[in-house]
Amino acid sequence: MKNSQKNEIIRGKCIDISQDGKGIIKNGRDIIFCDGLFLDEEADVEILYSRAGVLFGKVKKLYSLSKDRIQPKCKICSSCGGCQYQQLKYDAQLHFKTNRVKNALKYIGKIDCDVLPCIGMDDPYYYRNKIQMPYGKDKKGNVYYGFYRQNTHEIIPIKECCIENKKAASILWDIKDLIKKHGIIIFNEDSGKGVLRYVLIRTSYHYDELMVVLVVSRINFPGQRNFINDLTKIHPEITSVVANENPRFTNVILGEKEKVLFGKSKIKDSILGLTFEISASSFYQVNPIQVEVLYSKALDLIDIKKEQVVLDAYAGVGTIGMIASKNAKKVISVEINESAHKNAIENAKRNNITNMEFYCDDAGKFITNYEGQIDIVIMDPPRKGSDHAFISSVMGMNINNVIYISCDPETLARDLNEFSSKYEVRYVQPVDMFPMTSHVECITLLCRK
Ligand code: SAH
Repeated sequence: MKNSQKNEIIRGKCIDISQDGKGIIKNGRDIIFCDGLFLDEEADVEILYSRAGVLFGKVKKLYSLSKDRIQPKCKICSSCGGCQYQQLKYDAQLHFKTNRVKNALKYIGKIDCDVLPCIGMDDPYYYRNKIQMPYGKDKKGNVYYGFYRQNTHEIIPIKECCIENKKAASILWDIKDLIKKHGIIIFNEDSGKGVLRYVLIRTSYHYDELMVVLVVSRINFPGQRNFINDLTKIHPEITSVVANENPRFTNVILGEKEKVLFGKSKIKDSILGLTFEISASSFYQVNPIQVEVLYSKALDLIDIKKEQVVLDAYAGVGTIGMIASKNAKKVISVEINESAHKNAIENAKRNNITNMEFYCDDAGKFITNYEGQIDIVIMDPPRKGSDHAFISSVMGMNINNVIYISCDPETLARDLNEFSSKYEVRYVQPVDMFPMTSHVECITLLCRK
């Protein structure tokens, strides 16, 4: 039984920060998590709800401010929930991220090793190359777009977001007017009626290319041609418009069916001198500046020799593997998403890389059945981490070095714990791929004991 009740106001002092950036206060035996509350700050907190035995609250009144608190650039950052750390000095953000990795390795991974300070950006704003927004319409017929209020499907209207590309923001703004002009009907999540659900924009950092993806309930919709004509006239920088059909009631943004409505089916960008073309639904790193830091730091860790075979697992469009292939005998790339896998094959051709093999498969299944030579593993799984099939197979082979790149310190720590009976963690380097948020990317080097 909790002592603190819903709607009750508790005065307390923030004693710690959770892994997802929430301030923590204690009330007797109760622990309350609260957004926008930082270390040592004292506040009145209203209890909003309890989930899985944990209480969540919101700040009603602040009595003292953290020395690291700053005025955020964005007015809605405390309700949108995307930027947990925008109200903190950038140095403090990096400090919390380094600590998040340290704590995860220590308490979840039971691993005792040094963690290097998180590498930040010179300018930590407007960095994202991918922006996706739901659109809505109010009772007066005004169209708007924005982020969902935390834990809801209510859209908070915005004009631009200060971690997303400015060019993309101006296109989203104009699309709002074109939706009205061409009578495109906004999708209604309750009734399932209507067409337009989300607009996703991908920008290229190194090339003059820009892709607009219209996520719609049906691929052919009334007003489509005139809408696209107008949009590409107002924004000649658009090199591709793709319709993606997603009629399902789900939180997953993209569906499976796609049709190119204008220009090319892919967008081109480059990392460390190699070019990559990416389809609408393929994974691609969202921070084009830090990705070069991430890959260089990771590949500097080992000296790949000409007789060695590298496995690039969870390969996306083949980026890290292709960079590693310059020094290796061969790189084997494994990726489960079919369009990313196809992009990877084409990208190798584009970059004249001939010493790579590509498999579209589950990484664990693939390596369990693979009987050839593998000397080095580079693995970069999604947030949920890797799995027993993959890790136990790697441990059963005679592989000396594993580079594990992760975007979730807690699942990383869980997986490193499984590796730890046979591998020692030699190097841990967090990299800030996601400034203003509580997320952090991390490179680790494992060496066979
Ligand atoms: N290394 C790439 C991609 C990392 S993101 C880069 O740096 O860009 C993780 C990738 O793993 C995604 O492309 C996702 O589609 C893929 N993936 C997810 N589950 C997988 C699985 N079980 N087996 C293989 N690939 C998987």
